[in-house]
Amino acid sequence: MAGKSDIRRNFPWGHSRRFNTYSGYFRKIYGERIQKVSIDAGFTCPNRDGTKGTGGCIFCDSKAFNPSYCRPEKSVRQQIEEGILFHKKRYPGVKSYLAYFQTYSNTYAPLEKLALLWQEALSHPAVAGLIIGTRPDCIDREKILYLKDLSTRHYVSVEYGIESCYNRTLMRINRCHTFEDAVEALKITEEAGLNAGAHFIFGLPGETIDDMLQEARIISHLPLKTVKFHQMQIIKDTVAEKQYLENPSDFKIFEWDEYLDFIIRFLERLNPAIVVERLTGEVPPMYLFSQPWDKKRSDQIVSLVEKRMEELDTWQGRYYVDNE
Ligand code: SF4
Repeated sequence: MAGKSDIRRNFPWGHSRRFNTYSGYFRKIYGERIQKVSIDAGFTCPNRDGTKGTGGCIFCDSKAFNPSYCRPEKSVRQQIEEGILFHKKRYPGVKSYLAYFQTYSNTYAPLEKLALLWQEALSHPAVAGLIIGTRPDCIDREKILYLKDLSTRHYVSVEYGIESCYNRTLMRINRCHTFEDAVEALKITEEAGLNAGAHFIFGLPGETIDDMLQEARIISHLPLKTVKFHQMQIIKDTVAEKQYLENPSDFKIFEWDEYLDFIIRFLERLNPAIVVERLTGEVPPMYLFSQPWDKKRSDQIVSLVEKRMEELDTWQGRYYVDNE
């Protein structure tokens, strides 16, 4: 009979961590740690400038998520150099970086402008590739084909904010795109052989725990390489804060113990081939209306989740069914 250690050796992602980790994924590709450096290239978003909407998504407040070195008035090169210095303090041995175009919708401009920014990032000798965060309705085949060409020489990933698999939720949070838009964007990204990432939030208004767990089955069958998950957090001065004050029970603001239980159940249902980059979001407490979890940082949270998974002797994909 297989013991615990035998099961560990058989995890399909090739290491003994209890889920398919982002760091393990890059170690497989590069044989070492790789670090992201964030870039704010001064984009806006069609859901803020009036093209699709004006108020933005109800939770949107990008100032809460930008590292200090990341400012649009600086060139891409300068942000990369300052970002590398910033990360060197914590990870002095890191040699390669991925330029992460993070703020707002980073494909929301003509290809000529985007190509210059991407080339500027890739011209830095320490930059091994690009990660481009955007909305599913801000991509097209022309941009994808350009990225496909870049991907023959560099790592390239397009990371889509999808947030929920349910159109009723996307309407309520004022996303101004549908889940079908997300599926189409992922399809053209996959067809070009690019890495596709996605971001989802747990606790959006009107969703039950069962709705969220059901998303594991839906996400498992999307052509995704990586995913990021965030718990719903109420950020000060957003529409979400106003709605939360009017009707708190509409949102699911997880307590830590509840989230620990939930995220493990979610991972158990998730396709083991999908790389999990984040289990939670981290917003500086000064921006938060809802209470942070005793100031737990993301790396501590990952350790606590893995410790609990060890205790339960469970793993990502334990209950994933391929042909569902
Ligand atoms: S798509 Fe992104 S940048 Fe645009 S409003 Fe929503 S959260 Fe903000």
